[in-house]
Amino acid sequence: MEKRDYYEVLGVDKKASADEIKKAYKKMAIKYHPDRNPGDKEAEDKFKEAAEAYEVLSDENKRARYDQFGHAGMGGAAGGGYGGQNMSMDDIFSMFGDIFGGHGGFGGFGGFGGGGGQRQQARRFRGSDLRIKVKLSLKEIAEGVEKKLKLKKYVPCEHCGGTGAEGSAGTETCPECHGTGSVTRTQQSIFGMMQTQSVCPRCNGEGKVIKNKCPHCSGEGILYAEEIVTVKIPAGVAEGMQLSMNGKGNAGKRNGVPGDLLILVEEEPHAELIRDENDLIYNLLLDIPTATLGGTADIPTIDSKVRVKIEPGTQPGKVLRLRGKGLPNVNGYGTGDLLVNISVYIPETLSRDEKAAMEKFQKSDNFMPNDSLKDKIFRKFKNLFD
Ligand SMILES: [Zn+2]
Ligand SMILES: [Zn+2]
Repeated sequence: MEKRDYYEVLGVDKKASADEIKKAYKKMAIKYHPDRNPGDKEAEDKFKEAAEAYEVLSDENKRARYDQFGHAGMGGAAGGGYGGQNMSMDDIFSMFGDIFGGHGGFGGFGGFGGGGGQRQQARRFRGSDLRIKVKLSLKEIAEGVEKKLKLKKYVPCEHCGGTGAEGSAGTETCPECHGTGSVTRTQQSIFGMMQTQSVCPRCNGEGKVIKNKCPHCSGEGILYAEEIVTVKIPAGVAEGMQLSMNGKGNAGKRNGVPGDLLILVEEEPHAELIRDENDLIYNLLLDIPTATLGGTADIPTIDSKVRVKIEPGTQPGKVLRLRGKGLPNVNGYGTGDLLVNISVYIPETLSRDEKAAMEKFQKSDNFMPNDSLKDKIFRKFKNLFD
């Protein structure tokens, strides 16, 4: 596939400033962010393509080389440490994590998005998302459940109230950037003298520095601790579903924005019932006399059991449908059924008497399926599955 022009990828002019390039990338990154486009391969490719373009265009040297030689200038010996489309999502996040206002992982884009206007305010740290798995029984899934979970996570430091500063002196405006969070540098480049803006190294872009660091959290404002979180699981969830609780993830450094808690649902297999979306399936093995003479059978349900009537002459393959005995729809639309798949058990060995009885049945026309019967029975089953 032909590589697209990097400026075209980000939708910026060839003369775009570093700031414009950053803004354009941010926009792309938000639009095609995997958290917003789960499972969308095209969005992922676009996301990677934009990251690659940004990797080059945000770097003065790489950009100059690209401007002169195009894509040909990016590979080979002169390239050095150039990942291109081979970058993994994790690489992208660790490389450009700060653009999402977070640090590490799928830091998310919750940190900005106030929209419009120049954002002169110093940035706030965003805590990372916390991913946990929750194992649920079918009974819990059927009814919905509230779980109290003990989580290890970053919480605001109680000694400094999350500020990271010790005592009442607290923080002061960063003397290096005077609170703007960024510094302007004048550098000699191949284009002559150039001014570049970068994150203030003294305050890390916060605009504030701590006078005396809190000794408990080393000035970070967060501590790793155990916390009990109550998680409400709605009825009808399924294996692989992800629930998210806003702001219940790791605390952000120095009273930053907390990340989210992402809960991945795992389903414990039931001893007797098989789940098929909102329906449940039970495989009932009948004995020959009951299938032939009729009778009853006990069918397990999620919380108890029900007794069903077996009609005389019940065929193996017949499906009984117990309406409403399945699982509730997670969005609240109705409840599934419990389907009972009937099989008939044939004994593998027979006593002499049983064998004699069977041989008697074998002589009876009534026990022999003829063509019209076969047709009738198979048509009946076919209808069940249409
Ligand atoms: Zn502290
Ligand atoms: Zn500063």
